[in-house]
Amino acid sequence: MPFVRTISLVDEQGIYCNSLFGDINWPESAADRSDNLLRLSAGNQLREDHPLLAVRNQYGKGAVFSTIDGEYLQFMLALSGKSTKLLLHVGPQWLDEQGKLHQEALEKPTFVSHESNSTQYPFSIYAGYDESDFWHSLWQGRWLALSVLLGASMGCALLLWWLLGRPRSPASELARALHAKEFVPYLQPLVSSDNEQLIGVEVLMRWQHPSYGLIRPDLFIPQAEESGAIIPMTSLLMDTVAQQLGAIQDQLPDGFHIGFNISAAHCRDNSLLTECRHFLSHFAPGKVVMVLELTERELLVANAHTLALFEELDVLGIQLAIDDFGTGHSSLAYLQQFRVDYLKIDQSFIGRIGTESLSEHIVDNVIDLATRLGLSLVAEGVETQQQAEYLKHKGVTYLQGYLFGRPMPLPAFVAQAQGLVDEQEVAGVAGLAPRLGATNNQVNLA
Ligand code: C2E
Ligand code: CA
Ligand code: CA
Repeated sequence: MPFVRTISLVDEQGIYCNSLFGDINWPESAADRSDNLLRLSAGNQLREDHPLLAVRNQYGKGAVFSTIDGEYLQFMLALSGKSTKLLLHVGPQWLDEQGKLHQEALEKPTFVSHESNSTQYPFSIYAGYDESDFWHSLWQGRWLALSVLLGASMGCALLLWWLLGRPRSPASELARALHAKEFVPYLQPLVSSDNEQLIGVEVLMRWQHPSYGLIRPDLFIPQAEESGAIIPMTSLLMDTVAQQLGAIQDQLPDGFHIGFNISAAHCRDNSLLTECRHFLSHFAPGKVVMVLELTERELLVANAHTLALFEELDVLGIQLAIDDFGTGHSSLAYLQQFRVDYLKIDQSFIGRIGTESLSEHIVDNVIDLATRLGLSLVAEGVETQQQAEYLKHKGVTYLQGYLFGRPMPLPAFVAQAQGLVDEQEVAGVAGLAPRLGATNNQVNLA
C-alpha cells in the first residue's frame, strides 16, 4: 500500500520485524508504547523532517505499529482544492493542507465550519471556508452558471422595467381612466341675454389624471372618439351630473338647461336613447331641459336609424344644438331634417366682434338664418361686455363665456347652488332664477 510507510511487529522486547529492514531487533520508544495509539509526529529516525501518522494496534502481548506517510495525509487534505480548508487534528497536533505540522491549535475556518470526530481514534477533521475564499471559490467554480444567472436576472429586471414604464396605448390608458372614473364634469353657465340670469349649464369633460393633473378635452377627446371610448365616457359624465344635480334640483330654476357634447359615433350607438332617459329620470318632469350638442364639423348622416333616434329624443323633450356653428358646412335641409333647436355661434366669430367687420357680418348672417328657421341662438366665448351688448342687441337669446363664468368643477357648482359658499345668498337662491354676474370663475347665485 503506497501510503503505508512502515509496518513493524512488536513484542514485549521491542520491534522484532520491520517492513523496511527485515529481521531486526529494536527497542520500542516509550512514546510509542501505548494502546491503540494514534500520533502525529514530525518524522522518525529515517526521515526526521517528514511528518507521519503512527498507529499502534495491540494484539495480546504483541502489537502492530504502522506509520502513514505525511505526504499522503497532505495529499488527502489538499484534495478538496484551494477553496476548502481542511485540517487534521490528532491529540495535541495539527496538520494543515501544506503538510505542515503545528503544535499550537490552528485557526478554524471562519465562514462555514464543520467538525468531524472519529469514534474509534482520537482525531478530528475540520472542514470549511474562509469568507473571502468562499466568494472567490464560488466564482471560480461556478462562473459560468453565475454569469448566466446574472444575465438572466438583468434581462428579467429590464423586461419588467420596460413593461412598467412604457407608455400604454392611448386606448388602454383611456380604458384604465374610465374604470378609475377619472373623467369629471366641469360646468359652464349659460345665461339669458336680456337679464343675464342663469338658465343652464354646458357640461365640459376634464380628465383628472393621477400624474398629469387636469387635462383639457381637446387633448384626449379625438383619441376617445377614435377608440369608441367616448361613448362610455359620456355616459359616465351624464351619470355623475344626474346624481349630483338631481340631489339639488330644488335649488335650480325650472327648465334648467343641461347641455352635453355628443360625438357622432354616440348617435350611431343604440345606447344614447337609454342614457338620456336614465338621465332625465333623476329629475322631476319639467325641471331640466336636456340639450345634446353636436358639432357642425362632424355631421350626422341622415339615415333611418339616426332619424328614428332624433324622433324619439324629440318625444322625450330633448333638444338639439349645433355646436361651433359657422365652422362647418351644414345645409338648411340638414338643420330642418334633424329638428335642430339651437345654433351655437362659434367663439372664433364672437371673439372678433368689434374688431373685424367680416366676423360681425357672419354673426349677423347666422342670426338672420336662425331667426328665419325659428331657431334659438347661443353665443359661445363671450368675454367682454361689448360683445354681450352687441349680441343682445342682435337678438341672440343665450350667452356663454368667461364674462359670465368659467367652467367649474361640479362640486363647486353644487356648493354654490346650495348657498354653502355664501349663506347670505341662500335666501335669494331658493326658488328663484339665479342671476349670474360673475367673472373670474365664480357663479354668484343671488
Ligand atoms: P365646445 O363644446 O365648443 O366648448 C366650449 C369651449 O370653449 C370649452 O373649452 C370652454 O371652456 C371654452 N370657453 C368657454 N367660454 C370661453 C370664453 O369666454 N373664452 C374662451 N377662449 N373659451 C371659452 P373646453 O372645455 O376646453 O372644451 C373644448 C372642446 O372639447 C369643446 O368645445 C367640445 O368640443 C369638446 N368637449 C368638451 N367636453 C366634451 C364632452 O363631454 N364630449 C365631447 N364629445 N366633447 C367634449
Ligand atoms: Ca359644446
Ligand atoms: Ca363650441
